[in-house]
Amino acid sequence: MDTKQHDLVVIGSGPGGYVAAIRAAQLGLNTACVESVKELGGTCLRIGCIPSKALLESSYHFHEAKGELTQHGIDILSVSLDLEKMLKRKDAVVKTLTKGVDGLFKKNKVTRYHGMGRIAGPGKVVVEGADSATLEAKHIIIATGSVPAPLDGVELDGGRIGTSTEALSYPEVPEHLVVIGAGAIGLELGSVWARLGAKVTVLEYLDHILPGMDRRLGKDAQRVLAKQGLEFRLGARVTGARAEGDMCVVEVEGADPIACDRVLLAVGRRPNTEGLDLESVNVPLDTLGRIDVDDGFQTPEKGIFAIGDVIRGPMLAHKAEDEGVACVERIAKGYGHVNYDAIPGVVYTHPEIASVGKTEEELKEAGVDYSKGKFPFMANGRARVIGDTEGYVKILAHAQTDRVLGVHILGPQAGDLIAEAAMAIEFGASSEDIARTSHAHPSLAEVIKEAAFATFDRAISI
Ligand code: FAD
Ligand code: NAD
Repeated sequence: MDTKQHDLVVIGSGPGGYVAAIRAAQLGLNTACVESVKELGGTCLRIGCIPSKALLESSYHFHEAKGELTQHGIDILSVSLDLEKMLKRKDAVVKTLTKGVDGLFKKNKVTRYHGMGRIAGPGKVVVEGADSATLEAKHIIIATGSVPAPLDGVELDGGRIGTSTEALSYPEVPEHLVVIGAGAIGLELGSVWARLGAKVTVLEYLDHILPGMDRRLGKDAQRVLAKQGLEFRLGARVTGARAEGDMCVVEVEGADPIACDRVLLAVGRRPNTEGLDLESVNVPLDTLGRIDVDDGFQTPEKGIFAIGDVIRGPMLAHKAEDEGVACVERIAKGYGHVNYDAIPGVVYTHPEIASVGKTEEELKEAGVDYSKGKFPFMANGRARVIGDTEGYVKILAHAQTDRVLGVHILGPQAGDLIAEAAMAIEFGASSEDIARTSHAHPSLAEVIKEAAFATFDRAISI
């Protein structure tokens, strides 16, 4: 087997790995990226963020055409669904983007190896597959991401009972889809199939949806999504699911079993370290199976780093990307860091749900005094114009210093609006800084400005 020399070998080409590899090459490191799947881009581009958002977009257009547009005086007399075409469009979007990563690798001279990467001692990676080789490098970054977490008693059959991967490609609209877990995946993919006509039941073990997000925001989001037809059963612990012919049966503790024709298991994801042979080096896992790293993404084995879903922190694409950049900048320049207090989280339902910084629950628990400003989209001109008035912006600021500590949005374009809030937290802004910044009129962003005024004084327009 050939032995190849590189300055850096990255294992995995998801948003963590491919961004790290490109940035490293830009910084002058001779860089290779090992990826077991033919297409580059990882979970995010192939079976995660991008295909789910493509289906959310298409299914929302379908929902609009079926009735939502009548408020604008547009009556569409006959609306039909071509699911095959919708799925093909989603696949085409994915293909364009994964090919784009190929192009970026070529442009930046990142060497790609197609095969499974295995660590064979400090500074050594063995690739097995189409491009079998032994690679030697001073630095190795593990960016092998995550895979769906299994649930005891739920027999995944890759068909009727599956994970998000199958739910991105159901060949027909389910009659009744049961979703296990009311996290981001459950709400997003549940919304897609509900909009396309399925009855959707979401079973959640906790007494609230979206764990980790601001509790009030989650409650309000649940109310809005329930109006759209998603049925929520909270406090429902699923203990099993099995296929019986064309149907499935889902067992819930202390309740009658539920019959349905599809089950989506969405109870979280677990870090993926399978096949890496970490026993050959000093790279321990923590109690949750994540690779243990220090603040500089360094494992106890000098020269071996890890980033993205395979380490601690939220499992988000942009968090993986930011870590990829910070990690290689540390390797090449000696500095680079990620501000974990300013990483936004967005759930792309309609309306969108977005958060950055601390929740009220976290501030209360930490004993931090805070003031709160809230402003509804209903009172915003632009929201009225587009006919999308559900939701609000809530800003939490330090009671004494007025520094913005958390921003939580339920509303139209919340996923884009949250960028301003992340910037405010990153720059250490006060709510008064936001309120005194000119915001274009009429725009949805004015809701942030008004909520900021309400945090330290009073909103202008209510
Ligand atoms: P991954 O993207 O998982 O990439 C890891 C790569 O490593 C994979 O390509 C894998 O094939 C490869 N690999 C693994 N082991 C080996 C090996 N031994 N050798 C070679 N290659 C290997 N996040 C968001 O921020 N926004 C969203 O809207 C969003 N939507 C999502 C929707 C769904 C349905 C899912 C499932 C996830 C979503 N996520 C979203 C989460 C996001 O996809 C992940 O946080 C992100 O992909 C993590 O990036 P990563 O680089 O750490 O790992
Ligand atoms: P999650 O952890 O967000 O939610 C899983 C839910 O399942 C939790 O609410 C949990 O209480 C519930 N649950 C666990 N066991 C259960 C049981 N036995 N019965 C009923 N409910 C049970 O996980 P997810 O939605 O699968 O998403 C996985 C990861 O992917 C998340 O970390 C998320 O950040 C990421 N993701 C992000 C986006 C986005 O940013 N828009 C979209 C999709 C996925």
